[in-house]
This record gives sequence, structure tokens and C-alpha cells, in this order.
Amino acid sequence: MPAASPFKHGETPAVTRIIIAQSAPGKGMESCPLPWIEYAMYQDTIAAISTALGAGGIGIVRLSGPDALAIARRLFTGKLSHRRLSYGHIADPETGERVDEVLAAFMTAPRTYTREDMVEINGHGGPAALQHTLGLALRYGARLANPGEFTLRAFLNGRIDLAQAEAVADLVGTRTASGLRLAVEGLGGRLSRRVGEVRGELMSALADLSARIDFPEDEVEGREVRDPLIKAHQALQELAGSADAGIAYNLGVRTAIVGRTNVGKSSLLNRLLDRDRAIVSPVPGTTRDTVEEVANIQGIPFVLVDTAGLRQGGDAVESLGVERSYRALDQADLVLLVIDLSEPLMEEDRNIMVLLGDRAVVMAANKCDLPGRSDMGDLPWPVLPTSALTGRGLEELEAAMVDLALGGRVVASDALLVTSPRHRGALERALQHLAQALDGLAGGLADDFITIDLTAALDALGEITGETVSEELLETIFSRFCIGK
Ligand code: GDP
Repeated sequence: MPAASPFKHGETPAVTRIIIAQSAPGKGMESCPLPWIEYAMYQDTIAAISTALGAGGIGIVRLSGPDALAIARRLFTGKLSHRRLSYGHIADPETGERVDEVLAAFMTAPRTYTREDMVEINGHGGPAALQHTLGLALRYGARLANPGEFTLRAFLNGRIDLAQAEAVADLVGTRTASGLRLAVEGLGGRLSRRVGEVRGELMSALADLSARIDFPEDEVEGREVRDPLIKAHQALQELAGSADAGIAYNLGVRTAIVGRTNVGKSSLLNRLLDRDRAIVSPVPGTTRDTVEEVANIQGIPFVLVDTAGLRQGGDAVESLGVERSYRALDQADLVLLVIDLSEPLMEEDRNIMVLLGDRAVVMAANKCDLPGRSDMGDLPWPVLPTSALTGRGLEELEAAMVDLALGGRVVASDALLVTSPRHRGALERALQHLAQALDGLAGGLADDFITIDLTAALDALGEITGETVSEELLETIFSRFCIGK
């Protein structure tokens, strides 16, 4: 088994050092319990179809790893040249049968996506041709890549950090121009740099604190430790505070449209979609048992779910619909409650309002084009008159939805936003530990205890960029990716 470092170029990436540090002391690499080590040690060559399956102009089969070039040479009839597309055919080496007419290129490590040797075969975008090419690559020594494994290798080989790797998935999945901007920035490392700066400040505070412990006679002033912590706390608070907006832009806002029958829920949904459908349509990974569409409202993808009605009773079919409606409501970030302004408020309206409790609600008082407006009396939310028929009030309705989704903030178009719940969680933990450290300093707690909190804060921040990372976490993150990315 190879014992040499798998990293041919440059130093061992930080994350691998940490994973190595976590392995049982005294044991050889071969018996390491963590598969990631093994992964890093025995980098095999992986292959996958990297374009979406289905008929298309071109489709790409990608190989990455030490044998990428050797494998490609067996399948490709042309002459592969470095970083240039070469024309040729993919043919079965055993039978000589041609599978596809392609352009292929190889790129040597480390200046590739994965930092390994890579080959890209640009074939015709038909599933049969691509599968066949992939099958040949597998036959001649490649292994089918796991979801996200190309990006995982880029991370393990130190080309990108964890937040950047996650931005790759965001970039692929984003549905709006704003989401795209945030993903591109994430990929460029904007968040990573900011978090890195704060980590740097905390590390030097930790060093000062350690100096104070080791050389108490040298009189490091309390202020020298406290001030950087306060500054870091502020910076992290600002980042964490941006997460509601960032997550809304990145992952969208699930919006349940509720109200009794005939108030105009479907009509409003259609209106919102007509105005804002943009690039979007069905949402991947969601069940389609309720009507579900995405409206791009001021850059935020609102996933609109029309509920079948929240009425109790009825026949079996209807109660199925009721169940779905409750589920949609449970999963919603925001509720668009529709009432009928042309009729008096009914008991059913009131029951639904009670059901909504303290959720984030925008209330559309629909059919404002009709005469006979009734006095709605005291209601828990502002009345926004709308007409799905004429379009009146739609702009105000959208503004209210955006306002609620962003938590009332005005977000500058170039603001640095945290776009992932995972990052927000890590920031909140770091903040908690920092607050404890500051409390400890103020309360005259022994420096040893404060270093514990500071170290914990640093670890939490390290989870964002991947300096401190567990196998489970990596698994969770990369399972979000598609195969071939
Ligand atoms: P839902 O059962 O809540 O989904 O209600 P629909 O969207 O199916 O609408 C019920 C009826 O009200 C339909 O006949 C619509 O044309 C009508 N309607 C919906 N919105 C308006 C509105 O703003 N003004 C008027 N005048 N009629 C509306």
C-alpha cells in the first residue's frame, strides 16, 4: 500500500492535517478508522457524467485521479494534448466499435478543478452515448464518483475550503440572479476571508491570553485581550444577522397560501406567478402533491404552495387535501393568508387566523375591486387590499412579503450575506462562546477558563471553512451534491 503523501504538489492541506491529528495515536495509516484518510491516501481515479442526463447538444464525462490520462488514452482514438481540445472518437478497445465522436482534453495536476490529473470528454449529449463512454472508463480502471466527489477532492486537496465547496452546490441550484451573485461570491471566498480575519484576531487574543498565563509577571493588560474579543463579537453578530436575508435569497422562502375556499387563493397565486415567474418553475426535491411554484420576487425565490384548504371533515379525498395543507403550513417560513374583502369575515376565517398563531403572516384582503367592503374589525395583521382580478395592490403585497422575508432589513446589493443555515449555526455557537469568554473576563474568571471558551469559538468558526470538520459533517454536505459535480 502506498505510504507516501497523496499530495503531489504543495503542502498537505490543513483539513487533512486535522483529520490525521484526530486518528488514533500510535496506529499506522493503514489501520486508520477514518475513511477520509484512506481516501486521501489511496486516491483512485473517479469518473462520472458531469452534465445533466437527457438529450442535449453536448455531454461531458469527467475523469479525475492518477490514472485519468492512461484510461482516457485507451478509449480515445485521437491524440490527447495538454489543455487543448483534441478531436477523435471514443471506441471500445476490445471490439474497436465507435461509441461517440468527441472532443477531449486533459489537464495535469495541480491546476485543475480537483488538483488531480483530469480528463474531460465532450461527447454528444445523448444518455446512451455518455453512459457507454462512462462504462468504458469504469471498465478500464476508473471508479464511479460519489455525489460531489470531484468537489470533495478539490476541498481535500486544499484548492477550496468548505464554504467555497458549499457555494458550488448553491451555484448549481440557484434560481435567481441574486442567488447567483451570492454563490459566485461564496465560491470566490468572500465569507471565508471574513471568517478568516475574525479567526486571526481571536487567535492573537488567545496567544496574548496564553502569554498572560505563562508569564504573569509580564502584565498583559486586560484591555488587550478584551478589545479584540468585543470586536470579533461585533463582526460575528453582523454576519449572523445577515443570515435570514442570505438564506432567503439562497434557499428561498416557503410560502403557504391559506384561506377558506373561494377567497381567491389560486387567482392570487397565478397573479404572482404571471408577474414573477422568471427563470423558475418546478422545485427539485419537493413533492408535487400541493400546487407549488416559484416566484422570483425582488430576487428572492418564494416557493408558493397553494393549500387545498384548511377545512376539517369532508370526505376522504378532501381530508387528504386537508392533511397536505397542514403539512404545507408546518413547513412554511411565511404564510400568505387570503381573506375576501367583499364579504364579512366568517367563522372559518377566524378559525384559520387562530390556527396561524404567531407565524409570519402577510394578509391579503382580496377582491378589493368589488363593492360592499365590509368592516373587518380588529385583526392581528395589517389589511392589504388586493385584487387578483385587476392586479391592484399586488406590488404592495409583494413588498410586504419581501419585507417579512428579510426581517425588515434593507439589504444592500453588495452586502456580504451568510447564505447557509449551517454557517449560521456555527456563527451562533461561536458567538455564544465569545459571550461567555467576555463574561468570564468581566467577572475575573481565571484565564484558563477563558481560553477554553475562546478555543471553542475558534473551532466553531473553523467548521465554516473546514479547518475543524468531522466525517459526518462532510458526508452531510457532499450528499447534497449531484453525481459528477
Ligand atoms: P380559491 O378557492 O381561494 O383558490 O379561489 P379562486 O382563486 O378559485 O377564486 C374563486 C373565485 O373568485 C373565482 O371565480 C375567481 O375568479 C374570483 N376571484 C378571485 N380573485 C378575485 C378578485 O380579486 N376580484 C374578483 N372580483 N373576483 C375574484
